[in-house]
Amino acid sequence: MYLKNYNLDELKSWCVEQGVEQYRAAQILNAVYTNNLGDFTQIETLPKAFREKLIKTFEMFSIKISKVRKSVDGSVKFLFELHDGKHIEAVYMPWYDDDFDTMERITLCISSMAGCPVECAFCATGTLGLLRNLDSAEIIDQILLVQKELGCEITNIVFMGMGEPLLNYKNVVKSLEIMTAEWGLNLSRRKITLSTVGITNRIKQLHKEIRPVKLALSLHATTDETRGKIIPLAKNLKLSELLSAVEEYYRETKMPVTYEYIPFLGFNDTPADARRLAKILKRVPSRVNIIPFNDISFAMPSGFGKELKPTPKNLILEFGDIIRQNGGRVTIRDTFGQDIEAACGQLALS
Ligand code: SAH
Ligand code: SF4
Repeated sequence: MYLKNYNLDELKSWCVEQGVEQYRAAQILNAVYTNNLGDFTQIETLPKAFREKLIKTFEMFSIKISKVRKSVDGSVKFLFELHDGKHIEAVYMPWYDDDFDTMERITLCISSMAGCPVECAFCATGTLGLLRNLDSAEIIDQILLVQKELGCEITNIVFMGMGEPLLNYKNVVKSLEIMTAEWGLNLSRRKITLSTVGITNRIKQLHKEIRPVKLALSLHATTDETRGKIIPLAKNLKLSELLSAVEEYYRETKMPVTYEYIPFLGFNDTPADARRLAKILKRVPSRVNIIPFNDISFAMPSGFGKELKPTPKNLILEFGDIIRQNGGRVTIRDTFGQDIEAACGQLALS
């Protein structure tokens, strides 16, 4: 059993079942999350016999680091092995201020699944299909193991590694509880971004959870027809309903939304696309993050993905300008870790 699948209430109940005082649960979680202790013998506030009980019952870590690759730009890619031999990845990204003096934040890009069932035409993870969902402990341990390995404190989390978080809803929501709880990692929910391909009914549910986090929607196209060509499940989801769910999410949480958009040459990067995108952006406080396409056609045996080509930088800049002229806010992502194939969304095959 993995301890990090338990929240405070569940661990209290377990303590009571063992005939131990409830307050021990908070002591255990404090040692695990605040002090990041590596094993139960180190929790000296607990009676020795109880520590032994913990060792017999729980495993401290649910995954292990199997490879670490450092990029020249400071980002670090972690490959983790799961207990059944499958692999997932996370990417550590330090952000400095303009003078490179102080580190402003440290973002960890984490996975929610091994593989992904959505199989978007442009995505390396999608070529694997769904291998399996991660449980909450496996999601949380990515953070704890990176902090331990690098001796750092992660300040921001993005769900932009492998998998579609809203199709592993229950475990992802529990991991959000652990990340944001005072007894857990105690991160502000504003420092956590959940990126989704757009599961309309789950977006409508997410804002009702205790601590909803920031939402990023992987839009990539502005009409149902184009979107359906690159995101198979978009064939059965209406963009108009999806965008209404995003609007509702904003109304309920008051947190600006990010749209992600990968321009593909001649496919979704025309001036008309830019104007439609700007119109979408004006519906709620939001911005679009334009992500240059990491060409993965080498990994595509067949299918539409083979036809997708990156829009060159100068055309991306023009595309961004048209969005701005039409009143939308735009950022263009610098890709981190290109020398170690660590860009988010390119995490499966290397
Ligand atoms: N399933 C979620 C989160 C994981 S993917 C989602 O789709 O949003 C994280 C981001 O990486 C998404 O915006 C996705 O569109 C992007 N991505 C996937 N493959 C990519 C590629 N080859 N190049 C650039 N970005 C990619
Ligand atoms: Fe899955 Fe996201 Fe990749 Fe699509 S882009 S296949 S939803 S991980």
